[in-house]
Amino acid sequence: MIGLISATAAGARARERVAAAWPDRTRVYDGPVGDAVRRAFAECEQLVCFLATGAVVRLVAPLLADKASDPGIVCVDEGGRFAVSLVGGHGGGANELAGAVGELLGAQPVVTTATDAVGVPGLDTLGFPVEGDVAAVSRALLDGEPVALEAEVPWPLPPLPVAPAGQYTIRVSDRLAEPTAHEVVLRPPSLVVGVGASKGAPVDEVLANIEDALRDAGLSAKSLAELATVDAKADEPGIVEAAARLGVPLVTYSAEELAAVAVPNPSDAPLAAVGTPSVAEAAALVRGGELLVPKRKSAGRAGQPAMATCAVVRRPSRGRLAVVGLGPGARDLLTPRAKDELRRASVLVGLDQYVDQIRDLLRPGTRILQSGLGAEEERARTAVAEARLGHAVALIGSGDAGVYAMASPALAEASDDIDVVGVPGVTAALAAGAILGAPLGHDHVSISLSDLHTPWEIIERRVRAAAEADIVVTFYNPRSRGRDWQLPKALAILGEHREPATPVGVVRNASRPDESSRLTTLAELDAATVDMMTVVTVGNTATREIAGRMVTPRGYRWQEEAR
Ligand code: SAH
Repeated sequence: MIGLISATAAGARARERVAAAWPDRTRVYDGPVGDAVRRAFAECEQLVCFLATGAVVRLVAPLLADKASDPGIVCVDEGGRFAVSLVGGHGGGANELAGAVGELLGAQPVVTTATDAVGVPGLDTLGFPVEGDVAAVSRALLDGEPVALEAEVPWPLPPLPVAPAGQYTIRVSDRLAEPTAHEVVLRPPSLVVGVGASKGAPVDEVLANIEDALRDAGLSAKSLAELATVDAKADEPGIVEAAARLGVPLVTYSAEELAAVAVPNPSDAPLAAVGTPSVAEAAALVRGGELLVPKRKSAGRAGQPAMATCAVVRRPSRGRLAVVGLGPGARDLLTPRAKDELRRASVLVGLDQYVDQIRDLLRPGTRILQSGLGAEEERARTAVAEARLGHAVALIGSGDAGVYAMASPALAEASDDIDVVGVPGVTAALAAGAILGAPLGHDHVSISLSDLHTPWEIIERRVRAAAEADIVVTFYNPRSRGRDWQLPKALAILGEHREPATPVGVVRNASRPDESSRLTTLAELDAATVDMMTVVTVGNTATREIAGRMVTPRGYRWQEEAR
């Protein structure tokens, strides 16, 4: 819950806007501010105070205990100009909250935690449990001192400015060993525990068996990703409660699925009871991985048979490939999601000119693998190979990365052992359409005139089909130095089915500093003015120029009647 506190009329108005926007996440604290702040501090995970920072500092100072448990606090000034992350920037989520409140109120978020200011991710914000001297290692990262990364378990991490060796270390490990001085240990969610239990098995017995198994094998419970069992045990209270106490989800699989998993220790008892010769080992291994602890029975209570089993598996680490569209060029047409993915990746793969377009957004330590025009296949293969090594990779393309770009060659290479995320981008046809007016208001296609990878006969057949079907056409890759006859030819084919006066929009470098556009007609377009930085949109037989804009009617009846 986010507690909202204000003192003045202006503060109350801003407070109401936040409360109205997030009705389920916020609670308004009325009454004298001192009391209100103290109550909210005790009851909420986060506070937004529409008060001066000084007032809030004085009120919360006696209440602050520990940055792991204190709420995150954001202050918004009387003018609503700034949303200041005051306390709990990372652990309390105040930095993020300041950003969200800022967006809502049109206020500038003010974030002063050092790691965010210089673009180094906070070690406590990576989404993994972390142990050890976080403060010292963070400071070393910020000061540019050499910090080594030792990944015992390869896991997709955001970029960290690390050196091959150093006095400080970031270890990525699911092993129990305590961090040494000058070390932090990140705990990736790499372990799965398969559990079996007889009906009515007490939670303490189930839990003790899991904890003993992990401890005896030298594994950290903080790396536990999930418990797994058979469908028939989905509601077994001892298992459900054990997962809840461990703070991990319980996933279940059908007996058939588990019966198909090869395990070292099958037995007859579960086969008779639930229809699979193994529950613990099979449920842990069903998604692959390395069996670290084979089936282990619980100690059982005095004189009683063991009621629980478990087995521990280290999951194969899955790299992450984000295929990110950068939009047509302008920074504000790059989506926030694309920006997040660029900052989350430790490896960036792309064409050199696109890398330049977003270089300033990358976090220090990002490994950049750039190549020139024509190296598409190599880029696709590199991106997939890096993800398969367990890295977080972003493969970038201009516009939308799936439109005449890198997504398909990359996914043609990719196997199912990596996670793939696509981030859509504003493709050139849309960027151009918005500049021209509304040329794509009815059915439309894109056709690339590049015959580098596609035989001209196929391109021509598609142009002809679009011409016959009276569809608006946007030509990508319309013309280059070595390819000058294709565009006139394509326009001539369209001209067989459309009037010479059909509107044609030509947009060069949409949304880039040297953007230009013009509206002409099929008869008047001078192909020599078109190059590779251009898209050409040809209207259908209903497209009109209206007040200097290109408009393809949507075809509503009322519009036709009005004509
Ligand atoms: N993935 C890109 C397209 C790559 S093909 C996208 O979705 O936009 C390259 C062609 O796209 C260029 O030859 C040009 O025709 C077009 N193009 C890309 N960006 C453009 C822009 N900003 N303005 C005009 N045309 C553009």
